[in-house]
Amino acid sequence: MSCSTLDHFSHPDHSLRLKDNFVVRADATCSVCYKSVAATPTYTCSSSNIACQKYYLHKSCAELPKQIIRDKQDEHPLTLQPRSKNCTSFFRCDACWEETNDYSYVCLTCDFWIHKKCAFTPPIIPAPAYHHHPLTLIFCIPDMLRYFSRYCPICKERVQAFCWSYYCHKCTFFVHLKCSTTTVSLMSVPYCLYF
Ligand SMILES: [Zn+2]
Ligand SMILES: [Zn+2]
Ligand SMILES: [Zn+2]
Ligand SMILES: [Zn+2]
Ligand SMILES: [Zn+2]
Ligand SMILES: [Zn+2]
Repeated sequence: MSCSTLDHFSHPDHSLRLKDNFVVRADATCSVCYKSVAATPTYTCSSSNIACQKYYLHKSCAELPKQIIRDKQDEHPLTLQPRSKNCTSFFRCDACWEETNDYSYVCLTCDFWIHKKCAFTPPIIPAPAYHHHPLTLIFCIPDMLRYFSRYCPICKERVQAFCWSYYCHKCTFFVHLKCSTTTVSLMSVPYCLYF
């Protein structure tokens, strides 16, 4: 995506313009992830409207697909959504169980909310640095495996039965999603994406 203007669903009334290396106030934050936009390619609103002057959107956040379909966990498409208008209400991600308050991928039918980064976790880690077999993503730990020791080798904490984790079936080995250190490129993930 190299176009310098964009229409985005988070700001439907005006089109946005891409600015590289522009100077912003230190507290200027992206409207999707609420992180600082300093020194990052960022879209701003092209309107002169006062209310729009605090609207910023990271280029990387603007490129997140509006809707994705994952393979299992939830049969429904997941849509990129804000949790609430005021960003003080945190919620727990249904994949990794860490808290968040920014835009997330959501199934409103199931009340299923997951982090943007968790939405793109790959189904397999072929060669993890910390284990000698490939690891498979599982969405919960099956009953038959719940009596096995499930301490994550990275953080030494227990791996919860109802959150997503990576698993080696040869060794009955579990790793937290957050500890698995997978780096995912958006476009390399084999899911359906709708922009
Ligand atoms: Zn952002
Ligand atoms: Zn605007
Ligand atoms: Zn998560
Ligand atoms: Zn659903
Ligand atoms: Zn861990
Ligand atoms: Zn193994």
